Amino acid sequence: PVILSCIIALSAGIMFYQYLNRPLSLREALYQAVSNDDFIPLLQPIVNPHGDICGAEVLLRWNHPKQGFMMPDQFIPLAETTGLIHKMTSQALSKVKNHLIEHQPLLPDGFHLAINISPEQCNDLTFYEDCQHFLSSFPNGKIQLIIELTERELIQSTTRAIRLFDKLRTLGAQIALDDFGTGHASLSYINQFEIDILKIDKSFIRKIGSLDRPSHIVDNVVDLAERLNIEIVAEGVENLTQEAYLKQRHIQYFQGYLYDKPLAPEIFIERLARQSRK
Ligand code: C2E
Ligand code: CA
Ligand code: CA
Ligand code: CA
Repeated sequence: PVILSCIIALSAGIMFYQYLNRPLSLREALYQAVSNDDFIPLLQPIVNPHGDICGAEVLLRWNHPKQGFMMPDQFIPLAETTGLIHKMTSQALSKVKNHLIEHQPLLPDGFHLAINISPEQCNDLTFYEDCQHFLSSFPNGKIQLIIELTERELIQSTTRAIRLFDKLRTLGAQIALDDFGTGHASLSYINQFEIDILKIDKSFIRKIGSLDRPSHIVDNVVDLAERLNIEIVAEGVENLTQEAYLKQRHIQYFQGYLYDKPLAPEIFIERLARQSRK
């Protein structure tokens, strides 16, 4: 029996050792990354019809110690189910704030800063506090904060969400409906949430100019937005044909690889500096 218990103890020891040395699961790695603040908020320029940068969308990347740069679709869903998304958004806002404060003279007034939130954040008062803190770091009117809400998933507790959006609006933030046209709740969302901006999904922009796939959806969104007095951002603009079509329809804001991809904040600031020298 002594030998038996020794063997049991030894194998338990080995198993524990193996446990300690096993590769981290994605979930554990994500927890660690949040506590190390390992995410990088890239900034993708948003331009006006003259081609001038008038804002940016924050798009997160995870600088994973082993796998390198990871794209949002590889970690945002897990961040949502684990609740880590709250902390990640807060860290992203704080990093972006530091970059922009340092280079404030380069920012055009009313600079659009767009940040994505997940449906579970629509009930989160600390998100409101983060936005308040962010905006209070700049002179009034310097930054137009835009909260991008995806239409892909339904937003749950509607009354709480509406209350949060009302509070955000009192800060001067605007609400944008992202991926517009891909979900099912488009029209009811516009009403309920008093949407300020529609972002036409890139899948529709892609169809512009292709012969067999007409751009009815884009035309319809433009009509709708005009009637409701809502501004439009076209996302995923990749070529001049698309741009020309969108300009003809008086779209206010453009975003896509035709202008720039999502950039490291330092490079984004260089772009602004170059623009201010023109
Ligand atoms: P999204 O909000 O629709 O962001 C636009 C996506 O289109 C980005 O992908 C961007 O890199 C990509 N894109 C920009 N221009 C072009 C173009 O001309 N052509 C094409 N084909 N793509 C273009 P990304 O960075 O991979 O982000 C994917 C999604 O992840 C975002 O889609 C957003 O829903 C989500 N996401 C990113 N950052 C955050 C975040 O901080 N919080 C939350 N909740 N979601 C985020
Ligand atoms: Ca977005
Ligand atoms: Ca989008
Ligand atoms: Ca999209």
